[in-house]
Amino acid sequence: MNWNKSTGINDHLLRSWIRCRRKAWLEIHGEKQKKIWTAHYTLQLNHQKDCFSFLYQKSHGIGIQACKDGKNIAYGLRIKYPFPLNQTLKTNLPLIKKTTGESIWGEFSYLPIFARQGKKLTREHRLTLALRGKLLSELQKSPVSKGLILYKNNKSINIQKVRIQEEVKKDLMESIIRISKDLELKNPPPITSNRKKCTICAWKKECDKVAIDEGHLSEVSGIGAKRKLFLMKLGINNIKELSKIDHNDLRQGLNRFGVQHGDISKQIILQSNSQISKEPQRINPQKIINQFKDAPGFLIYDIESDPDINHDFLHGFIRFPKSIDNQIKIEKIKYQPLLNIQKDSENFLWKRLQKKINRDNRLAILHYGETEPISLLKLAKNQGANLKELEALKNRFIDIHLLIKEYWCLPVRNYSLKSVAEFIGFKWNQEGADGARALLWWRQWKESRKQTKLFSKNLNSIFQYNRDDCLATLMIAKWLINHD
Ligand code: SF4
Repeated sequence: MNWNKSTGINDHLLRSWIRCRRKAWLEIHGEKQKKIWTAHYTLQLNHQKDCFSFLYQKSHGIGIQACKDGKNIAYGLRIKYPFPLNQTLKTNLPLIKKTTGESIWGEFSYLPIFARQGKKLTREHRLTLALRGKLLSELQKSPVSKGLILYKNNKSINIQKVRIQEEVKKDLMESIIRISKDLELKNPPPITSNRKKCTICAWKKECDKVAIDEGHLSEVSGIGAKRKLFLMKLGINNIKELSKIDHNDLRQGLNRFGVQHGDISKQIILQSNSQISKEPQRINPQKIINQFKDAPGFLIYDIESDPDINHDFLHGFIRFPKSIDNQIKIEKIKYQPLLNIQKDSENFLWKRLQKKINRDNRLAILHYGETEPISLLKLAKNQGANLKELEALKNRFIDIHLLIKEYWCLPVRNYSLKSVAEFIGFKWNQEGADGARALLWWRQWKESRKQTKLFSKNLNSIFQYNRDDCLATLMIAKWLINHD
């Protein structure tokens, strides 16, 4: 699709641009077939639906007619407005709410509403609200100085009144001018330095390919936006250049920006070497701890959570009651899911978990990352476990993620479970499954389980996904032992 100024800028484009300039450009000029489906957009829409249903009122209607009729809530307004410099601004207002004031419709006016995900109010939220406010004020011929932001907090929906400050309005106007300049570019703006943003982006696959081909510094684990900038100031622009530099020279150079950057010089050079040669490199010559190698067996543990309401809805286990040196027949391994449907049934959950982990307390508990011990120890503490019990439980945890990072430099772009497991040759059964999709499956299942069986298969998909996470952790542990 060719973009010209009259095509317009809408709130979707504005939000894309705030996240990443390249994303906005690709939304307009990119090849649509290269986009991938991610669960995030559906999660976002579902979240919006939940938040908005909280504002349900008897007096509601659709579009401009609802405003003319003075309904308390009006749904589905589309507004288009000419902007200086031959631009057009557009917005879809899924919902607006009646408030005091005076408008073309009578002795009342309307407020824009926005449902946000995430814990904090960000620039993206403020500017989107400001854009909606700007177009709504043009439509109703009445100023909009505030809006409502809805968000989930534990089980409840909270409403926050947000003033649309003058500096936010100024930021919006400047952003619109910069967006249109970006959209006029022949080539896409650079890949964002903060690659964490890419995890939920539909253009991820396409940008990953470009970043790998061009040897972007952001492809190296340990290099974020800031460090990339410092490296570029030192004249290091890609992975190849990084891999060739002497580590003492790099340390000296990076120390100028803070010793924490200098201290990591050896690690990032090794990492870039490993990625270029595609070979793993051992960084700690010591043998892996005996506790791990000689353990009589393991419980492999992985949690699935709903972060919006801090709810660990699934505790998945694999019991592996023998030495990890043995051959592992994946298809024969039994998986034990422990579902925690209601967030507020911690006492019952703790009893079930205790039964599971204390069945054989000689077994070490393998996990990948810090979520599992934090969550389990917190639960145990809340349920009255004493210091001795907590200490004993703590000593059973072995974090495979920490061990991998301590002993190995692998040719991977990051040390997530997925990246490391794929490097050692492990494959998830369900293509494209990830944490976001598991969350979507869960929310759909939970929402519909009492009324319809539409999403009844989702539970099996979640179990399958969680089982694979446990198996991946086990197989990485085995890889560590085999390569010790
Ligand atoms: S994948 Fe990353 S760099 Fe590419 S458009 Fe999305 S956020 Fe930007």
